[in-house]
Amino acid sequence: MAQEKILLIEDEAEIRELIKLALEAAGYTTIYEADNGEDGLGLARSRQPDLILLDLMLPGMDGLTVCRKLKIAEETRNIPIVILSAKSEESDVVLGLEMGAGDYITKPFNRKILAARVRAQLRNISEQENSIEIRCHGLVINQELHSAKLDGEELELTRSEFDILNLLAGHAGRVYTRNQIITRIKGDDYPVTERAIDVQIVNLRRKLGAWGTNIETVRGVGYRLKADY
Ligand code: CA
Repeated sequence: MAQEKILLIEDEAEIRELIKLALEAAGYTTIYEADNGEDGLGLARSRQPDLILLDLMLPGMDGLTVCRKLKIAEETRNIPIVILSAKSEESDVVLGLEMGAGDYITKPFNRKILAARVRAQLRNISEQENSIEIRCHGLVINQELHSAKLDGEELELTRSEFDILNLLAGHAGRVYTRNQIITRIKGDDYPVTERAIDVQIVNLRRKLGAWGTNIETVRGVGYRLKADY
Protein backbone atom coordinates (compact mmCIF):
# COMPACT_ATOMS: atom_id res chain seq x y z
CA MET A 1 0.00 0.00 0.00
CA ALA A 2 1.44 3.35 -1.04
CA GLN A 3 2.04 5.80 1.81
CA GLU A 4 2.12 8.92 -0.32
CA LYS A 5 -0.51 11.58 0.33
CA ILE A 6 -2.20 13.15 -2.66
CA LEU A 7 -4.12 16.41 -2.82
CA LEU A 8 -6.80 16.67 -5.46
CA ILE A 9 -7.99 20.16 -6.46
CA GLU A 10 -10.96 19.79 -8.82
CA ASP A 11 -14.33 21.52 -8.72
CA GLU A 12 -16.44 18.82 -10.38
CA ALA A 13 -17.52 16.24 -7.83
CA GLU A 14 -18.02 13.56 -10.44
CA ILE A 15 -14.48 13.90 -11.79
CA ARG A 16 -13.08 13.99 -8.25
CA GLU A 17 -14.83 10.71 -7.57
CA LEU A 18 -13.41 9.09 -10.73
CA ILE A 19 -9.91 10.26 -9.91
CA LYS A 20 -10.20 9.03 -6.34
CA LEU A 21 -11.27 5.60 -7.57
CA ALA A 22 -8.34 5.46 -9.98
CA LEU A 23 -5.87 6.50 -7.27
CA GLU A 24 -7.29 4.05 -4.74
CA ALA A 25 -7.10 1.24 -7.29
CA ALA A 26 -3.41 2.13 -7.68
CA GLY A 27 -2.91 1.90 -3.90
CA TYR A 28 -3.03 5.59 -2.94
CA THR A 29 -5.44 5.78 -0.05
CA THR A 30 -4.62 9.11 1.58
CA ILE A 31 -6.36 11.61 -0.66
CA TYR A 32 -7.28 15.17 0.36
CA GLU A 33 -9.87 16.99 -1.71
CA ALA A 34 -10.61 20.62 -2.45
CA ASP A 35 -13.22 21.97 -4.84
CA ASN A 36 -11.60 25.40 -5.22
CA GLY A 37 -8.15 26.97 -5.39
CA GLU A 38 -8.19 28.77 -2.03
CA ASP A 39 -9.04 25.61 -0.09
CA GLY A 40 -6.52 23.71 -2.18
CA LEU A 41 -3.72 26.11 -1.22
CA GLY A 42 -4.73 25.82 2.42
CA LEU A 43 -4.64 22.03 2.33
CA ALA A 44 -1.30 22.04 0.49
CA ARG A 45 0.18 24.10 3.32
CA SER A 46 -1.42 22.25 6.22
CA ARG A 47 -1.25 18.66 4.95
CA GLN A 48 2.01 18.80 2.98
CA PRO A 49 0.93 16.24 0.37
CA ASP A 50 3.52 14.35 -1.68
CA LEU A 51 1.78 15.27 -4.92
CA ILE A 52 -0.96 17.63 -6.11
CA LEU A 53 -3.42 16.97 -8.92
CA LEU A 54 -4.59 20.38 -10.06
CA ASP A 55 -7.49 21.21 -12.35
CA LEU A 56 -6.95 24.33 -14.50
CA MET A 57 -10.58 25.43 -14.84
CA LEU A 58 -11.63 26.30 -11.32
CA PRO A 59 -14.22 28.79 -10.11
CA GLY A 60 -12.67 31.83 -8.41
CA MET A 61 -8.91 31.46 -8.34
CA ASP A 62 -7.94 29.61 -11.54
CA GLY A 63 -5.58 26.65 -11.65
CA LEU A 64 -2.63 28.56 -13.12
CA THR A 65 -2.78 31.06 -10.27
CA VAL A 66 -2.90 28.20 -7.78
CA CYS A 67 0.10 26.63 -9.52
CA ARG A 68 2.08 29.86 -9.35
CA LYS A 69 1.28 30.36 -5.67
CA LEU A 70 2.28 26.79 -4.85
CA LYS A 71 5.59 27.22 -6.66
CA ILE A 72 6.37 30.57 -5.04
CA ALA A 73 5.74 29.55 -1.43
CA GLU A 74 8.69 28.01 0.40
CA GLU A 75 6.58 25.35 2.11
CA THR A 76 4.91 24.04 -1.07
CA ARG A 77 7.37 24.70 -3.89
CA ASN A 78 8.88 21.21 -3.89
CA ILE A 79 5.58 19.34 -4.08
CA PRO A 80 5.16 17.91 -7.61
CA ILE A 81 2.07 19.09 -9.46
CA VAL A 82 0.21 17.21 -12.18
CA ILE A 83 -2.20 19.44 -14.10
CA LEU A 84 -5.64 18.21 -15.12
CA SER A 85 -6.76 19.95 -18.28
CA ALA A 86 -9.32 19.88 -21.03
CA LYS A 87 -8.12 19.27 -24.60
CA SER A 88 -8.47 22.90 -25.61
CA GLU A 89 -6.15 24.23 -22.91
CA GLU A 90 -2.75 23.40 -24.42
CA SER A 91 -1.37 26.92 -24.07
CA ASP A 92 -2.34 26.98 -20.39
CA VAL A 93 -0.67 23.60 -19.95
CA VAL A 94 2.56 25.06 -21.37
CA LEU A 95 2.33 27.97 -18.93
CA GLY A 96 1.70 25.58 -16.05
CA LEU A 97 4.70 23.43 -16.94
CA GLU A 98 6.87 26.53 -17.20
CA MET A 99 5.73 27.56 -13.73
CA GLY A 100 7.02 24.24 -12.47
CA ALA A 101 4.23 21.68 -12.80
CA GLY A 102 5.76 18.28 -13.55
CA ASP A 103 3.25 16.84 -15.94
CA TYR A 104 -0.32 17.06 -17.15
CA ILE A 105 -3.21 14.78 -17.94
CA THR A 106 -5.94 15.57 -20.43
CA LYS A 107 -9.54 14.91 -19.45
CA PRO A 108 -11.24 12.55 -20.02
CA PHE A 109 -8.36 10.53 -18.63
CA ASN A 110 -7.46 6.88 -18.72
CA ARG A 111 -7.16 5.41 -15.21
CA LYS A 112 -3.96 3.51 -15.92
CA ILE A 113 -2.32 6.58 -17.45
CA LEU A 114 -3.33 8.67 -14.46
CA ALA A 115 -1.81 6.15 -12.04
CA ALA A 116 1.33 5.83 -14.16
CA ARG A 117 1.85 9.61 -14.33
CA VAL A 118 1.37 9.95 -10.58
CA ARG A 119 3.82 7.12 -9.91
CA ALA A 120 6.41 8.64 -12.27
CA GLN A 121 6.22 12.00 -10.50
CA LEU A 122 6.55 10.46 -7.07
CA ARG A 123 9.44 8.32 -8.21
CA ASN A 124 11.29 11.28 -9.73
CA ILE A 125 11.40 12.91 -6.33
CA SER A 126 13.03 9.97 -4.62
CA GLU A 127 15.50 9.40 -7.45
CA GLN A 128 16.73 12.95 -7.80
CA GLU A 129 18.85 12.52 -4.67
CA ASN A 130 21.30 9.93 -5.99
CA SER A 131 21.55 10.74 -9.62
CA ILE A 132 25.18 10.33 -10.74
CA GLU A 133 24.09 7.48 -12.95
CA ILE A 134 20.74 7.30 -14.74
CA ARG A 135 19.46 4.05 -16.22
CA CYS A 136 16.46 4.17 -18.48
CA HIS A 137 15.24 1.52 -20.94
CA GLY A 138 18.78 0.11 -21.23
CA LEU A 139 20.44 3.50 -21.67
CA VAL A 140 23.09 4.35 -19.07
CA ILE A 141 24.03 7.97 -18.49
CA ASN A 142 26.92 8.89 -16.23
CA GLN A 143 26.69 12.56 -15.34
CA GLU A 144 30.19 12.86 -13.90
CA LEU A 145 31.85 11.29 -16.93
CA HIS A 146 29.41 12.96 -19.33
CA SER A 147 28.95 9.60 -20.95
CA ALA A 148 25.88 7.97 -22.44
CA LYS A 149 25.97 4.29 -23.35
CA LEU A 150 23.41 2.24 -25.16
CA ASP A 151 23.88 -1.54 -24.97
CA GLY A 152 27.43 -0.90 -23.77
CA GLU A 153 28.30 1.30 -26.78
CA GLU A 154 29.34 4.88 -26.10
CA LEU A 155 27.13 7.36 -27.97
CA GLU A 156 28.81 10.23 -29.82
CA LEU A 157 26.72 13.16 -28.61
CA THR A 158 27.34 16.89 -28.71
CA ARG A 159 27.28 18.71 -25.40
CA SER A 160 23.73 19.98 -25.88
CA GLU A 161 22.44 16.63 -27.15
CA PHE A 162 23.88 15.03 -24.03
CA ASP A 163 22.31 17.66 -21.81
CA ILE A 164 18.87 17.25 -23.40
CA LEU A 165 19.02 13.47 -23.11
CA ASN A 166 20.25 13.75 -19.54
CA LEU A 167 17.42 16.12 -18.63
CA LEU A 168 14.69 13.97 -20.19
CA ALA A 169 16.07 10.64 -18.92
CA GLY A 170 16.63 12.01 -15.43
CA HIS A 171 12.91 12.75 -15.19
CA ALA A 172 11.34 10.06 -17.32
CA GLY A 173 7.62 10.59 -17.61
CA ARG A 174 7.88 14.32 -17.14
CA VAL A 175 7.05 16.70 -19.99
CA TYR A 176 9.41 19.57 -20.74
CA THR A 177 8.44 22.53 -22.90
CA ARG A 178 11.01 23.70 -25.45
CA ASN A 179 11.53 26.81 -23.37
CA GLN A 180 12.28 24.77 -20.28
CA ILE A 181 14.79 22.68 -22.18
CA ILE A 182 16.53 25.86 -23.36
CA THR A 183 16.82 27.23 -19.83
CA ARG A 184 17.89 23.93 -18.28
CA ILE A 185 20.74 23.07 -20.61
CA LYS A 186 23.97 24.97 -20.89
CA GLY A 187 27.12 24.66 -22.97
CA ASP A 188 28.94 26.32 -25.84
CA ASP A 189 26.64 25.06 -28.54
CA TYR A 190 23.38 25.30 -26.63
CA PRO A 191 20.39 26.09 -28.82
CA VAL A 192 18.69 29.41 -28.32
CA THR A 193 15.44 29.01 -30.22
CA GLU A 194 12.57 26.57 -29.85
CA ARG A 195 13.19 25.43 -33.43
CA ALA A 196 16.78 24.61 -32.51
CA ILE A 197 15.49 22.26 -29.81
CA ASP A 198 13.44 20.41 -32.43
CA VAL A 199 16.60 20.03 -34.54
CA GLN A 200 18.55 18.69 -31.55
CA ILE A 201 15.79 16.17 -30.87
CA VAL A 202 15.84 15.01 -34.50
CA ASN A 203 19.61 14.49 -34.26
CA LEU A 204 19.31 12.71 -30.93
CA ARG A 205 16.67 10.33 -32.23
CA ARG A 206 18.82 9.58 -35.26
CA LYS A 207 21.85 8.77 -33.09
CA LEU A 208 19.75 6.65 -30.75
CA GLY A 209 18.21 4.54 -33.50
CA ALA A 210 15.30 2.38 -32.37
CA TRP A 211 15.74 3.62 -28.79
CA GLY A 212 14.89 7.11 -30.06
CA THR A 213 11.18 6.27 -30.06
CA ASN A 214 11.34 6.55 -26.27
CA ILE A 215 11.55 10.30 -26.79
CA GLU A 216 7.95 11.32 -27.30
CA THR A 217 6.77 14.52 -28.95
CA VAL A 218 3.94 15.91 -26.84
CA ARG A 219 1.95 17.85 -29.39
CA GLY A 220 1.61 21.53 -28.72
CA VAL A 221 3.57 21.16 -25.48
CA GLY A 222 7.09 19.75 -25.77
CA TYR A 223 8.99 16.51 -25.20
CA ARG A 224 9.05 13.68 -22.69
CA LEU A 225 10.95 10.48 -22.23
CA LYS A 226 8.61 7.51 -21.78
CA ALA A 227 8.61 6.38 -18.17
CA ASP A 228 10.47 3.10 -17.59
CA TYR A 229 8.14 1.03 -15.43
CA1 CA B 1 -12.98 22.28 -13.58
